[in-house]
Amino acid sequence: MEKSEKLQQLAKQIEVCHRCDLYKNAKYSVPGEGNPESLIVFIGEAPGFNEDAQGRPFVGNAGKYLDNILAKVGLERKDVFITNIVKHRPPENREPAFSEITFCNSWLEEQLKTIEPKIIVTLGRISLNYFLPGAKISDVHGHSYRVQNYVVLPMYHPAAALRSIHTATELEDDFQKNRDLLVNPLLGEKVTEIYQSSGQASLF
Ligand code: URA
Repeated sequence: MEKSEKLQQLAKQIEVCHRCDLYKNAKYSVPGEGNPESLIVFIGEAPGFNEDAQGRPFVGNAGKYLDNILAKVGLERKDVFITNIVKHRPPENREPAFSEITFCNSWLEEQLKTIEPKIIVTLGRISLNYFLPGAKISDVHGHSYRVQNYVVLPMYHPAAALRSIHTATELEDDFQKNRDLLVNPLLGEKVTEIYQSSGQASLF
């Protein structure tokens, strides 16, 4: 089966997913979108108000900002795949609970197994800690780490950058610093560094 067909099939299953209660307050599920053949996947936290209203990831102000910084390294949204850790909007934009992430994660795992990206860019702490439990975003942002078959590249969340000029500068610097890797994800094969937690590992 083609990658795009498999992703569409997953999106249909996500649409009717009742594994946790998030679907009850949501208008649409937000499975993710982009190029199924992309070697890069961007992973945020959860849909917000605009994403819930449209069923598409990163379409509000944070999404517009993300489009902007992608453009600065010569990428467009259609070049990459963009999704979230959880696929339905948590009420009032609260953080997804550990149980919700756990119930939802097989969808993300199936998406990754289908797309087979080389690079996973985590946007924000929730997505970071899914791949690197216990990591502090202020310590690891902009560095790349090998996690099984992937290179995980942690970045600040675009919404955090909209709240703080300091974070925006760091996020834009991280994109520039990693421009080669973002444009040519096969360079990720050279990344061997494994994340070593300095403290006690915890999931969140
Ligand atoms: N924030 C996220 O983490 N994901 C979205 O899709 C939108 C905002």
